[in-house]
Amino acid sequence: MSTIKFLRSSTHNALRSSLGWCRHAASRPRYDYDLVVLGGGSAGLACAKEAAGCGARVLCFDYVKPTPVGTKWGIGGTCVNVGCIPKKLMHQASLLGEAVHEAVAYGWNVDDKNIRPDWGKLVRSVQNHIKSVNWVTRVDLRDKKVEYVNSMGSFRDSHTIEYVAMPDAEHRQVTSEYVVVAVGGRPRYPDIPGAVELGITSDDIFSYEREPGRTLVVGAGYVGLECACFLKGLGYEPTVMVRSIVLRGFDRQMSELLAAMMTERGIPFLGTTIPKAVERQADGRLLVRYRNTTTQMDGSDVFDTVLWAIGRKGLIEDLNLEAAGVKTHDDKIVVDAAEATSVPHIFAVGDIIYGRPELTPVAILSGRLLARRLFAGSTQLMDYADVATTVFTPLEYSCVGMSEETAIELRGADNIEVFHGYYKPTEFFIPQKSVRHCYLKAVAEVSGDQKILGLHYIGPVAGEVIQGFAAALKSGLTVKTLLNTVGIHPTTAEEFTRLSITKRSGRDPTPASCCS
Ligand code: FAD
Ligand code: NDP
Repeated sequence: MSTIKFLRSSTHNALRSSLGWCRHAASRPRYDYDLVVLGGGSAGLACAKEAAGCGARVLCFDYVKPTPVGTKWGIGGTCVNVGCIPKKLMHQASLLGEAVHEAVAYGWNVDDKNIRPDWGKLVRSVQNHIKSVNWVTRVDLRDKKVEYVNSMGSFRDSHTIEYVAMPDAEHRQVTSEYVVVAVGGRPRYPDIPGAVELGITSDDIFSYEREPGRTLVVGAGYVGLECACFLKGLGYEPTVMVRSIVLRGFDRQMSELLAAMMTERGIPFLGTTIPKAVERQADGRLLVRYRNTTTQMDGSDVFDTVLWAIGRKGLIEDLNLEAAGVKTHDDKIVVDAAEATSVPHIFAVGDIIYGRPELTPVAILSGRLLARRLFAGSTQLMDYADVATTVFTPLEYSCVGMSEETAIELRGADNIEVFHGYYKPTEFFIPQKSVRHCYLKAVAEVSGDQKILGLHYIGPVAGEVIQGFAAALKSGLTVKTLLNTVGIHPTTAEEFTRLSITKRSGRDPTPASCCS
C-alpha cells in the first residue's frame, strides 16, 4: 500500500516539476492553499517554510492549550518552549555550578562554599531567551511568506480545515490541496488521585515560579533523568521513581552505568515503584503514596514538587481525524515511508507519527524532505535509521546505531565484537572528579573489516563527540578505519580511535595512563 501511494505522489511531483510548478502556475487554484500545516513546532515550521520556499501557498496553524496549572507559551512547539532549549539551558546552569567548584581547584579565588542558584533569575533568563526565539520565529514566517494563524485547526473534511479566529471567536474554514499534520505531543499524567491537581510536568518546570525544592521525579526515561540531574546540579533534592528499568530501549550496560553515576552524585532511585496518590498536607507540602511492585510494600514520602515524566501522548483528539478518514494507532498517526497517511494527500511528520524517534532533528529533516517531495519534485525519503541521540545528564550519554542487546539479537552473539574501555578525561584530574563512569564502546561485526553497528559514550559533552561519529557510522565506518584514524589529543573523543580491548578477550578495560 505504502509503495503505491508514494509512487503516485512522486509521479505527480515529477509532473509538477517538469511543468515548472510554482504558486503562480495554476490560473485559478482549486483550493485556498497548496498546503495547510497543523502545528507550528519543529516539524510543522520546517515543512511550512520549505514549502513556501518552493513557491507553495502555505498556511500554518499553531495553538497551545495551557497546562492544568496554567502554563502556556508561544509559537515554536515543544523544542523551543518546553523541551530541548530550556532543558539544555538548565543543564548548562547546573554544569556551571559544578564548574565553580572545579575552578577553585584550578586556582581561582572563588568562595565555592556559599554558592546558591537564583532559581527566579534562571527562569527569567531562560524565558527571555524563549520569547526572543518566539519573536524571531514569527518574523521568519512573515519573511518566508508563510501565513500563520494562532488557532487550533481541525478537519471538516479531508481538504477542509476549520478553526476559531480570534479576537471575535468567528468560526472559519480554509481548503487546501495538501494537509500536513505536525501537532506533536504533550506529557501524560498518571491516572491516580491528585496527579493533575498537584503535580507538574516538563511543560511547567522551565517557567516554574517557586523553587522546586525536594522533588519527586516519576519516570526514568530521557525527561525524568535529565530533569532530576539539572535539579540536583542546581542544589535541589530530586528522587527518581522507576517503574521498571532506567532508559528502556537504550543499551542496558550504558543505562545502568548512567544510573550508577547519578546515584554517586546523590540522586536516590525508588526502584520498581509506582505512585498511588498525591495529597496536599496542612503545611502545603505534598504527601506521595506509592507501592513497590517487587516487594508489594506500600510507602509514602513528602516532597515540595512532584514532576510527572512518564512519557507523552500524541495530540490527535482535537483534530477530528475521522472526518478526513486518517487512520491512527493508539494516539499516533500511521504513515508510510513517504509520511503519507491513509489519505494520500494528508501527511504527518514529527512526534505525532507512530513508531519513529521523537527528536527535534528528526522532526525538522522529515518535514523539510516532505515539502521538497510535494513541491520541488524530490523523491528523497527520510532515513530514520541510525539517528544519534544524547541524554543530557552531567556526564552525558550519547549513542548512535545498535545497542549491544539489539546487535546480539539481530546478528547472534558469535557474530558481534564489542570493543570497550574506561578513560580518564584530562580535565578531571586537577579537581579530582570521579572517572568511574567515563566509558565507551563500539559494537561491531566480528568478521572482515568489522563494520561498526553502534557507538556508545558516557562522558563530558557526549552529544558533541557522537555527532561526527554518527556521520561516519552512516557512511559505513569499520573498526579498521576507526583505529586508523588519528586522534585529536588531548580530547575524550580520541578515545574512540584507541579502542583496542574486546569484551571477549576478558582484558581489563581500565586505562593505565592517558598518553600511551
Ligand atoms: P511539537 O514541537 O510538539 O509541535 C507541535 C505544535 O502543534 C505545538 O505547538 C502544539 O501546541 C501545536 N498543536 C497541537 N495541536 C494543534 C492543532 N490541532 N492545531 C494547531 N496547532 C496544534 N529532542 C531532541 O532532539 N533533543 C533534546 O534535547 C530534546 N529534549 C527534550 C526535552 C523535553 C523536556 C521534551 C519534552 C522533549 C525533548 N525533545 C528533544 C523532543 C523534541 O522536543 C520533540 O521531538 C520535537 O519538539 C517534536 O516536534 P514536533 O514539531 O513534532 O511537535
Ligand atoms: P519515555 O517514554 O522515554 O519514558 C517514560 C518513563 O516513564 C519510563 O521510565 C516509563 O517506565 C515511565 N512510566 C510510564 N508510565 C508510567 C506510569 N504510569 N507510572 C510510572 N512510570 C511510568 O518518555 P519521556 O517523557 O522521558 O520522553 C519522551 C520523549 O521525548 C522521548 O522518547 C524522547 O524521544 C524525547 N526526549 C528527548 C530528549 C533528548 O533528546 N535528550 C530529552 C527529553 C525527551 P517503563 O520503562 O516501565 O515504561
